[in-house]
Amino acid sequence: MTHDVIVVGAGAAGCVVAARLTEDANRSVLLLEAGPHYATEEQWPPELLDGLGFPRDHDWGVVSAPLVNGGHTFPIPRGKVVGGSTAVNFCVALRSRPTDHRAWADLGLPRWSWDEVLPVYQAIEHDYNAEPRVPAGRVPIRRYARDELTDTQERFLTACEKAGFALVDDHNAPDSLGAGSTPLNQVGGRRYNAALVYLADAADRPNLTVRSDAEVDTVLIRDGRAVGVRLASGEEITAKQVVLSAGAYGSPAILLRSGVGPAEHLREVGVDVVADLPGVGSVLLEHPATPAIFAVAEDRPAQRPAPLRTMLSIKTSPAEPDVDVHIHAMAAMPARPAEGHPTGFDLRMTSALVAPHSVGSVRLASADPAALPVVDTGIYRDPRDAERVAEGLRVIRRLVEQSPLASVVSAERLPGAGVADADLVQAVHATVGTYNHPVATCRMGVDSDAGAVVDETCRVRGIDDLWVIDAAAIPVSPRSTTTLPVLMLAERAVSLNWPNA
Ligand SMILES: Cc1cc2nc3c(=O)[nH]c(=O)nc-3n(C[C@H](O)[C@H](O)[C@H](O)COP(=O)(O)OP(=O)(O)OC[C@H]3O[C@@H](n4cnc5c(N)ncnc54)[C@H](O)[C@@H]3O)c2cc1C
Repeated sequence: MTHDVIVVGAGAAGCVVAARLTEDANRSVLLLEAGPHYATEEQWPPELLDGLGFPRDHDWGVVSAPLVNGGHTFPIPRGKVVGGSTAVNFCVALRSRPTDHRAWADLGLPRWSWDEVLPVYQAIEHDYNAEPRVPAGRVPIRRYARDELTDTQERFLTACEKAGFALVDDHNAPDSLGAGSTPLNQVGGRRYNAALVYLADAADRPNLTVRSDAEVDTVLIRDGRAVGVRLASGEEITAKQVVLSAGAYGSPAILLRSGVGPAEHLREVGVDVVADLPGVGSVLLEHPATPAIFAVAEDRPAQRPAPLRTMLSIKTSPAEPDVDVHIHAMAAMPARPAEGHPTGFDLRMTSALVAPHSVGSVRLASADPAALPVVDTGIYRDPRDAERVAEGLRVIRRLVEQSPLASVVSAERLPGAGVADADLVQAVHATVGTYNHPVATCRMGVDSDAGAVVDETCRVRGIDDLWVIDAAAIPVSPRSTTTLPVLMLAERAVSLNWPNA
């Protein structure tokens, strides 16, 4: 049987594309996902629905290539389940910013200007705190009220105010800058992953088939046209159109195994060149993050983990056009190990850079689909990036000196009170991690842009009937988190390509 469309990967983007395309009862869609499928809310493992935890057992197990500075490696999680990374993520629901979309327009992509994408965001969000209320979309978003915050998070916001930062009601308001409750796609502590939000309604459609535990090896390409996919098992499935939504690591890896990518790299790993497309996997933009940890007296009242309910967005220098660093404050948590700890509880804050200059890449280790891709996050390759994360740590230190936090904090444990402000860049290199927002590995661009992999509608250049619709297509690292931007991109790409979807 030939399907009209095969969608590869059931993450944020894949769930949108499959749901939207099957609104037309005459179009059959096969959604292929390497991980398992929990078809009803009852079947989901509780830890994946618990928006307060950090599930790690539905993961691809990718570890970063060693960093250029210090050679560190670290896990770079990606969800492997219908729902994708939205089933394991931290639920921060931030829109990309008008500044980001000016950068898209500057790349010659006016269909992705702020005026074009704002209505898309408004249509997909169901924002419980928005005033005036906009027509309700599918993605639930809410913010914790001040009296719902943990003691330390409430103190964090007051400390931000005392340190001179503005309080903001809505971090999603264009140009907002300052401290406030984080918009979360979490309601009543439940993580609303893309499968729950998008597939639940579509699941019963006879024209949608969801096939889980089906890992795609390559796209079948005949005479310059995508005609289906080959699974890692060797099975071939045909379709009239193929959409790759396998994420920022998965989509470039599939293209490379299919012979679509930089010819030199393909020859190195023994893949026949189908199309020499130099941009595939050649750019990876990621948000680095570094924690600061302080010993605090026990939180009042004792709380379960309550991650990321508050955040401060800052510009680390007046020259920055917009926010470049996010600072998140967690709840106070029992310290591990507890032995020898001054209070038994830690308060963790994070400085995360959302406008990186550094560039990484995704490459194949081999043509074997069982081999995980080689992901160079590029983190801190450009020295300006570590400096800005360090500036975020300096702001955290200033916050901790304010009375609301100073009265409960007893010691800086990481980077450590002994590390001078001037030396924080070294500390940033030593405790590097990511904010988990890779984009641009199959980035969008105009025909004259030799590094562009897809055009402004997400069609792969030079191959007919093949699209990349997911985080990989985003050309500019958003000064935000990435779930909402990916959902927006998927909705808009469907509208541009299948106007009557
Ligand atoms: C730990 C973590 C925390 C995060 N926290 C936040 C947050 O708080 N806020 C936020 O906005 N964003 C967050 N993100 C990022 C956000 O979840 C991603 O940007 C978003 O899910 C990307 O969507 P996607 O569709 O591109 O990829 P994904 O959602 O990752 O989906 C890709 C899907 O493709 C499947 N796939 C891959 N390769 C194959 C293959 N060969 N064959 C078949 N299927 C395949 C995968 O299993 C997966 O289901 C976080 C991510 C992680 C991992």
